[in-house]
Amino acid sequence: MNLIQFTSRFPNEASCRKYLRLKREEEGIQCRRCGSHEYFWLVNIEKWQCRKCCSRTNLRAGTIMEKSKLPLMYWFIAIHLIVATKKSFSALELQYQLGHKRYEPIWYMLTKIRIAMGKRDSKYKLKGQIEMDEALFTVVTIDRSKKDEDLNLYNEKQKRGRGSQKKLNVLVMTESTYNPNNKIKHRPSRMLGYIKMIVIDDASASSINYEVKKAINPSSIVLTDSWTGYTNIKDIVKEHQKMIVKSKDADKKLPWVHKVISNAKRLFLGVHHSIGREYLQNYLNEFCYKLNRRNHREIIFDRMITAGIADTWY
Ligand SMILES: [Zn+2]
Repeated sequence: MNLIQFTSRFPNEASCRKYLRLKREEEGIQCRRCGSHEYFWLVNIEKWQCRKCCSRTNLRAGTIMEKSKLPLMYWFIAIHLIVATKKSFSALELQYQLGHKRYEPIWYMLTKIRIAMGKRDSKYKLKGQIEMDEALFTVVTIDRSKKDEDLNLYNEKQKRGRGSQKKLNVLVMTESTYNPNNKIKHRPSRMLGYIKMIVIDDASASSINYEVKKAINPSSIVLTDSWTGYTNIKDIVKEHQKMIVKSKDADKKLPWVHKVISNAKRLFLGVHHSIGREYLQNYLNEFCYKLNRRNHREIIFDRMITAGIADTWY
């Protein structure tokens, strides 16, 4: 969906409300009090009423938008801008585009969208041939005694004064399949599939194994360098191919995982400048969610709305 299509589909608040209602009914409404799925719509107050216990459900109840006072249209615009653009939007930029006075609600909105993206992707496991490696991402540790503790966007001046830089370990996993049609020289002979990027506390075998179990289907083949943290992977997946990878050969031996890491780092630097350590996972969620749906740009907005209403958010 492009911007023209978006504005004709959602020209006002009423069109967003109507769409949200339809989407939620598609997913199924469940009464919070008695668990019943039978309901009817009260037109005048725009709520569902449970046929069994008469309890009412708000349009936003149980969705990522539940506690937000922002118009639905803000949410729709934010979701559209985030998913329809290749790069990303900082909260500051979105605040400007929406003409909203306060920064915090906009920042919280974006954060919730990114959490929903991560929640959605965590339902799927990678399979087939998977390259795996770790990367260090620079984050800012926020001094909690200072004001503005929730703001994760720091300009250079603030960064020097308020936070210290640190690096966090990120486990990166990329599926790839052989591409017989690739005739272009210097391009990897395999096509990128789905990816995952997960912040890990340390690079120990137990941390890595825990994440691999959650993220990768046991029938997979995992390719890594010879780092000691990877010693037990063979017990979790079908096959573990360990390679001695010199840094000059990294792009050849584990091409996709390194490409993904460098693209993510470049994007974060360009759009967000610096990221608070608590929020790195959220930015990775967005990066992975969009990359995983790069071939479905027509429906990615609708999918994201589903992601925001499908889980229980209260
Ligand atoms: Zn009920």
